[in-house]
Amino acid sequence: MSETSDMAEILQGVQARIAAACAKAGRKPDEVEIIGVSKTFGPDVVREAWEAGIRRFGENKVQEAAWKIPECVGGPEWHLIGHLQRNKVRPALDLFSVIHSVDSVRLLEQIERVADECGQRPEILLEVNVSGEASKSGLSPAQAPEVIEYALGCRNITLTGLMTLAPFCPDAELARPVFAKLRGLRERWASQFGIGLPNLSMGMSNDYLVAVEEGATWVRLGTVLFGHRPKWKPGAEEAEERWEP
Ligand SMILES: *Cc1c(COP(=O)(O)O)cnc(C)c1O
Repeated sequence: MSETSDMAEILQGVQARIAAACAKAGRKPDEVEIIGVSKTFGPDVVREAWEAGIRRFGENKVQEAAWKIPECVGGPEWHLIGHLQRNKVRPALDLFSVIHSVDSVRLLEQIERVADECGQRPEILLEVNVSGEASKSGLSPAQAPEVIEYALGCRNITLTGLMTLAPFCPDAELARPVFAKLRGLRERWASQFGIGLPNLSMGMSNDYLVAVEEGATWVRLGTVLFGHRPKWKPGAEEAEERWEP
């Protein structure tokens, strides 16, 4: 069996589990899209995944994406899912059409300025630290309204939703309250600001089915699709990310 059909088979299995989780929650399977998290994998893996039907890919580091994306098949929509530093906004906007990890007004100001100069129209999500874990990036729920208000005043930026990372634990059920809380915050802020916030980016390989039951529209999947990540660290100055082995 070729590798391509292996990938297609894995993807079908994941899609079937997502469909079952949707059925359980009374949702339609087409409300959920997979973002293939290709960090640490090369363009060959992206090509296989593209051929198997994945259309959106996530990377967590701008500098890794900067060499990889130009080497990849054309067509995918690229999402930045990792922390973005203000001094990397310019390359980030060249590479990514969606940024999941906006966590301050200062970062938004920079995105708006660069987008204006370069004629880009990025889509953004606010990253919310729902669990309150000190080790997590993201806005506290108390800080978010100010950032939403700022985003709504930006001409070049479209705010379409919220993203969160659940604390890692082997029992995915323990992440359920985090996902439910993000959905609740979405509902609260959507009505407070009179806006739609359709996207909820939540759920990774270990907890995506619970996230789907709780309303995820984008699940960010690496390991379950591509296997364990090779240990490979471009740019030692980048902070160690908690999901790396
Ligand atoms: C790496 C990463 C993922 C994917 O993690 P898996 O457990 O391999 O599915 C999802 N979201 C973010 C922000 C990541 O950095």
